[in-house]
Amino acid sequence: MFKKILVANRGEIALRIQRACRELGVRAVMVYSEADREAKYVKLAEEAVCIGPAPSALSYLNMIAIISAAEVTDAEAIHPGYGFLSENAGFAERVEKSGFQFIGPSPESIRIMGDKVSAKQAMIKAGVPCVPGSEGELPDDPVQVRRIARTVGYPVIIKAAGGGGGRGMRVVHTEAALLNAVQMTKAEAGAAFGNPSVYMEKFLLNPRHIEIQILADKFRNAVYLGERDCSMQRRHQKVIEEAPAPGIARKLIERIGERCVAACKKIGYRGAGTFEFLYENGEFYFIEMNTRVQVEHPVTELITGIDIVKTQIMVAAGEKLPFTQRQIEIRGHAIECRVNAEDPYSFVPSPGRITMWHPPGGPGVRVDSHVYTNYFVPPNYDSMIGKIIVHGDTRDQALARMRTALGETVIEGINTNIPLHRELMLDAKFMGGGTNIHYLEEWLGHHKR
Ligand code: ADP
Repeated sequence: MFKKILVANRGEIALRIQRACRELGVRAVMVYSEADREAKYVKLAEEAVCIGPAPSALSYLNMIAIISAAEVTDAEAIHPGYGFLSENAGFAERVEKSGFQFIGPSPESIRIMGDKVSAKQAMIKAGVPCVPGSEGELPDDPVQVRRIARTVGYPVIIKAAGGGGGRGMRVVHTEAALLNAVQMTKAEAGAAFGNPSVYMEKFLLNPRHIEIQILADKFRNAVYLGERDCSMQRRHQKVIEEAPAPGIARKLIERIGERCVAACKKIGYRGAGTFEFLYENGEFYFIEMNTRVQVEHPVTELITGIDIVKTQIMVAAGEKLPFTQRQIEIRGHAIECRVNAEDPYSFVPSPGRITMWHPPGGPGVRVDSHVYTNYFVPPNYDSMIGKIIVHGDTRDQALARMRTALGETVIEGINTNIPLHRELMLDAKFMGGGTNIHYLEEWLGHHKR
């Protein structure tokens, strides 16, 4: 096992990784920007290094500063968390060339999966079902683009090969709007992701977002830890996640899970990863793979009892997966609410000082957050300040526990989306389970204030 790891991230996931390190008896070196000096995990750290000013480009995205911090502290490995440099193949490569272990898959795996066009091609080869669409990147020739769209069938969605975070996508309903939409998405993709290539998929009308968590070691052992339902989204960004997915037969999950495991073995994948699917009329369609730990990993941890972050570190250190597929059991139901510093209905960010932080507790309640009373939420980063996760024997019990937990939560000084979560936990359709990816936006439309 490593003696020392550098945590190249911030916020709740930095604290989460620090906790996993403590359990493993590994020293965690925390890095922070000038805006994060007061973060809980920095105050709790045995070692912490300031890597630059508040803007991410100068700190959390600054590869040289991060690798230098690992050098001066004698860390052996770097955990990238999620976001920032976590899916940057160039960073993973530089980390390894500098003599450190990157806690994640190989740079080649990240590169293939980071380009959604090559990821889809790899999945088709590995026998994972994909959304029907263009075979690869869209050509420049407008005649061919129109022909592809007719074959796929309207509505279609134009997506950036290098896209992420719900950006770089455009739905097209008619041929008249097609070429303009392709041009606009290309221009945006070039500016935002440095890669103007786009591809086309059939736009599924009422799908759910279902994803499969996998873990793999360096010996080509791989397992899947069941699924998560992340259909409650706004602007393609997840707001509530749960596991298992309500109403989907275990047989179907097992079948797709086994396909994902086979794909991992085929491409020599190692570490944690997530295969994201759209699910409609009993069929799964692969949309992308995330080659890192995800925000919503705790719901899987609660239903399997497996520590995903600790396992990531163990397999990066060269250990074998400590369990087989047959030993993985799904128990009960878990739900996660992302707590964002924002107005609950206009979604305007609400950074500032938290004057009162009273998190919930009790049986089956977990809170992953780096904030505390008197903490200042900096305006420079994502608005997520933590997550409330509950576990119950049944979905109904998990819902009841989430209602109680949200009722106990007191956060003053800034606005948060807790009031929105409270309403959603009482919404009859959501309580029934199985809402699709458009449900939350439609609900918000009907509940305008
Ligand atoms: P990102 O990497 O930006 O998260 P994804 O490819 O994972 O992009 O898509 C994000 C979300 O966009 C999905 O969860 C879904 O809500 C929507 N989406 C993507 N592709 C399609 C599609 N073909 N049909 C319908 N919705 C889609």
